[in-house]
Amino acid sequence: MGEPLLVDERHRTESAAETEAIAAEIASRLEPGAVVLVSGDLGAGKTTFVRGAARALGVSEPVTSPTFTIGQRYAGDLPVSHLDLYRLEGAFAAEEPGLLDDYLTPDAIAFVEWPEVAGAELDGITLRVAIAHAGGDARVIEVEGVGEGARG
Ligand code: ADP
Ligand code: MG
Repeated sequence: MGEPLLVDERHRTESAAETEAIAAEIASRLEPGAVVLVSGDLGAGKTTFVRGAARALGVSEPVTSPTFTIGQRYAGDLPVSHLDLYRLEGAFAAEEPGLLDDYLTPDAIAFVEWPEVAGAELDGITLRVAIAHAGGDARVIEVEGVGEGARG
């Protein structure tokens, strides 16, 4: 179990590149097993944030929204999981226990778009990132440490 990641930050970005840069800096502080929830409306920049983080973690393949699956695992300096639960409806966890297990592994750093859908299925959360539109290309990114540095 890693050290608690106690952060409470608020950033304002004016471009996708700036959001990627902030994600990269945050990613550099994460340990294997970290689970980062990324919430926000459609087009807020969740996938952009994950792309910036994944690049910083050594992922060179394209980072896009998973379309026909709930997630992907990229090979970086360590495994990077990217989940997008948008197409899943609530209560899936009860029907498909363990659905996320292939992605939320102790060796990987995981990013989860639309985490609200998973509810209590997502435990061991490290960071909550909330991205909101702030007019034009501006975004406000709030980063809250939840107190668990890494899943055990
Ligand atoms: P989401 O995954 O939240 O639906 P995406 O990351 O797929 O959002 O898309 C965000 C879109 O907004 C991209 O086209 C991106 O280039 C654009 N964009 C413009 N300004 C920003 C910004 N400040 N931060 C992130 N994305 C931005
Ligand atoms: Mg997305």
